[in-house]
Order: sequence, then C-alpha cells, then structure tokens
Amino acid sequence: MSPDKYIKNYINGALVPAISGAYINNINPATGKVYSHIPDSDAEDVQRAYEAAERAFPQWSKLGIQKRFRILNRLADIIEQNLEAFAKAESIDSGKPLRNAMTIDIPRAHQNIRFFATAILHFSSESHHMEGNAINFTLRQPIGVVGCISPWNLPLYLFTWKIAPALATGNCVVAKPSEVTPMTAYLLAQACTEAGLPPGVLNIVHGRGPKAGQHIVEHPKIKAISFTGGTNTGKHIAATAAPMFKKLSLELGGKNPNIIFADCDFDKMIATTLKSSFSNNGQICLCGSRVYVERSIYDRFKEELVKRTQSLEVGDPANSLTDMGAMVSESHMEKVMSYVKLAVEEGGTILCGGEKVNMKAPFDEGYFMRPTVIEGLPYNCRTNQEEIFGPVVTISPFDTEEEALEYANSTDYGLSSTIWTSDISRANRMAEAIHAGIVWVNCWLLRDLRTPFGGVKNSGVGREGGLEALRFFTEPKNVCIKY
Ligand code: NAD
Repeated sequence: MSPDKYIKNYINGALVPAISGAYINNINPATGKVYSHIPDSDAEDVQRAYEAAERAFPQWSKLGIQKRFRILNRLADIIEQNLEAFAKAESIDSGKPLRNAMTIDIPRAHQNIRFFATAILHFSSESHHMEGNAINFTLRQPIGVVGCISPWNLPLYLFTWKIAPALATGNCVVAKPSEVTPMTAYLLAQACTEAGLPPGVLNIVHGRGPKAGQHIVEHPKIKAISFTGGTNTGKHIAATAAPMFKKLSLELGGKNPNIIFADCDFDKMIATTLKSSFSNNGQICLCGSRVYVERSIYDRFKEELVKRTQSLEVGDPANSLTDMGAMVSESHMEKVMSYVKLAVEEGGTILCGGEKVNMKAPFDEGYFMRPTVIEGLPYNCRTNQEEIFGPVVTISPFDTEEEALEYANSTDYGLSSTIWTSDISRANRMAEAIHAGIVWVNCWLLRDLRTPFGGVKNSGVGREGGLEALRFFTEPKNVCIKY
C-alpha cells in the first residue's frame, strides 16, 4: 500500500484519473501545505463507475456467501497487515494523532470488514406459516448498485462501515470518501486488488460533494444511498433521492448530552468525560458536547475537568505524546472558533482554551486549537443547540432529574447520550426517556458491532450496524406458497 502524490479513482478494478484530468488540492492540516491531489470527478466518472458496478453485479451477487466471505476476509487481513501504512496516511490526511489512527481508526476499519464478511454467513430470513393453508418465506436479495458516501472525521472507519455490509450482501458499490480525507480510501483500492475483489464490485470515485457526490445521489440507476455526514447535506440528499424512491440511510449530526449525577463513580466519569469531550478534537459525531452536572458536585467537576483539559498535549500528530493533533481543515477550525466567539456573545465564560495554538515550524501554518471548556450558558442558546463538532464543551449545573432530562432533550438532534449514575433505576428511567438512538450508561463509545447504530430527530433516518445494515442493503421479497 503506498500513498501517492496523485490519488486516483478506482473504477472497474483499475486506478484511473478523473476523465477531465482535473484535480483538487489535498492539504495536510498539521502543516497547512498541499501534499497531494485528488481527482475532481464529475458525472462522467460516476457513470463509468456505475457501468462497471452494473456489469459486475450478476456474478458478484451470485458468487455465494462463502466466496464473498473469503474475499472480504482477505481484504480485512491486508488492512490489518498494513496497519502502519494505513494509520500514517490517516493521520497525515486528517491531522489526528497517529496513536489514535493506530489504535482506533484502522483496527476498526478491518474489524468492520471482518464483521460483515462473517455476518453474512449467519444472516437468515424469516418464514411465516399459515396453518393448514400456506407457507410464506422471505427472500433477502441484494439491491443492485448502491451508493455509499462518508465524511472526514473517521475516514476509513466510516467508509468501511458502509461498504462492507453492502458488498457482503452481494451489492456492487459506487462509493465516495470525503474530499478532505481521501488517502486511506485510495490505499483501500490497492488492497482490494491484492485481495482479489473482482473488477467493478467496488468503485471509488473521489471528488467534491456537490459534484461527484451529487451525481451518485441523483443517478437514476443507483437504487440505495447510505450517507454519513452533516444534517444539512442529509436534508439535501433526502430531497434529491426520496422523490426517486431510493432506499436511504442517513447518519447525521449530533449535539449529545453528557449527564452526570452526584452518585457516579467520579474518577471513572472524569477520565471518560475528558475523552468524550475531546477525542479526535471533538470531531466525533458521538462526542458529548453539552455536559450537565448535578449541582452538588459541579464545582469539584469543573475544577477537575479544567485541570485535565489544560494538561492535554496539542501538537505534532506523529508524536506519541500528542493527545490532540490538528483540526481537519482551516475552514472547519474557523467555524469552530466562530462558535467560541458566539458563546462569549451569549454570555458564556471561557474557563480554558478558546484560542488557536501558535506552533513552531513545520507546523506554524497548521490548524491547531486549544481544547475549550465554557460555562454560564442557558440550555436553549445557540451554542447549546447547534452542532459545533470541535474541541469545545459547555458545562452547566442541574438540580433535578427532570431538569437534566429537559435540557438533554431540548435540541433538534438525537444521536447519542451518556448518563453517569450508580442508581440503576434512575439510569433506566433516563435511558427510556431520553431522545437519542444510543444511550451509554457509565461508559462512552463502547461499541458492539451487532447493535443498532443511528439517531432520532435531525440526527438521521435508519440504523446501521449488525442486522440493521444487512437488512438495509437487501430487499425483502415475500413468496407465498399455498398447499
Ligand atoms: P458533509 O455533509 O459536509 O460531507 C459528508 C460527505 O458528503 C462528504 O463525502 C461530502 O463530499 C459529501 N457531500 C457533500 N455534499 C453532497 C451532496 N450534495 N451530495 C452528495 N454528497 C455530498 O459532512 P462532513 O463535514 O464531511 O462531516 C461532518 C458531519 O458528519 C458532522 O455533522 C457529523 O456529526 C457528521 N457525522 C455523523 C455521523 C453519524 O454516524 N451520525 C458520523 C460521523 C460524522
């Protein structure tokens, strides 16, 4: 696997430039410098990718689960064997610490592929017996050619999370990674060739969202779209694809509450809260950005969180001591900084952070920001209602369970939530009442790949994970046989 100065599309098993020959700059966010180039694909490239996928579909969908399992399992092995190359590429492309890419992103990418490679061996469909009359059974058939579009925050992790179930169930795929972090998808294409994936089964088209991405979404023959990204993009995709009656899975933004009761295990809670606030620079859709703390422990919590936040090492992503690398792009950093300004205008007090970090060369033009803790804001202000998606958390005290719930449920989002308490009845009451697709009690980001994953309200439509993903990528067909 080798990164390249000129990334290529992967169409019909070959690495090719965009037909137009146009490229977009790819920037290393730690240095702010262009370090490679991405094909600026358009409708013609998407059409080529579609045609390759359509040609590959009859054979791939009929190959049988054992053969599909073997190829995908081999692909997972190749990623695992090349962990370092993938992790380095991911770290350079996204600015995240190499340590995180080595221990989280890339391991999860090959686990995703292995999980769905094996899941398909156990996937079964239902039958419904009408006593003395007839038997119904459900065929679960692949859809055909499907589109998978992913964001920049967990590049290969989320790209494979979609592609793997789509391929395992026998579909052929036209996929687009984020133009902000394309490199590991390029390495994945090389790994697919090595794994013996037949040409056209997976096609990777690089380029901008409104151009290459939009052409995937509006292609009349691409029958399902699995998308992860921002809520506004999701709205636009739904407006395009829904009238075409495409199957849609939309995993969108979040504004997740982290609710801390006084009876929690303080040490575990504070260590995990530091992670749920600032992992990956807060650029994880599941980060808990609104922290609500029972008043009796608020001051102790505040002091400890600020102290620990100030001790986080911001710096060179390749250094093993770095806790937080660069923000993914200049425009994203500016957006996050604009929310810090807004928080102050709304009456908030910055307890720590809130500024960019001046680094020495070669990182002096990189996008580094200090982790930021803000207090004193009402639950319904914009800072506490809109997704910031950066290393910024607000903290607020609460007095009762009802009040905490009201704050937690007050946003338009409903992706994940975290509750810290040793009262099991309260944990269950809260879990039932909270508006979120995922509830973590006394933990955060603990994931079993079999469980349903997704959000309610503006955080999305549909679920990924386990059987949910296998069902999304197959069409159920009922066959009724009368005795
Ligand atoms: P984004 O919506 O800007 O882009 C996501 C992808 O969509 C990219 O590949 C982009 O090129 C593509 N795209 C953009 N416009 C498009 C269009 N018109 N048609 C088709 N494709 C288009 O999101 P982002 O900035 O890359 O990612 C950050 C967002 O993703 C945050 O809101 C975050 O919460 C969300 N996210 C959600 C989850 C989840 O599982 N719910 C996971 C990770 C990130």
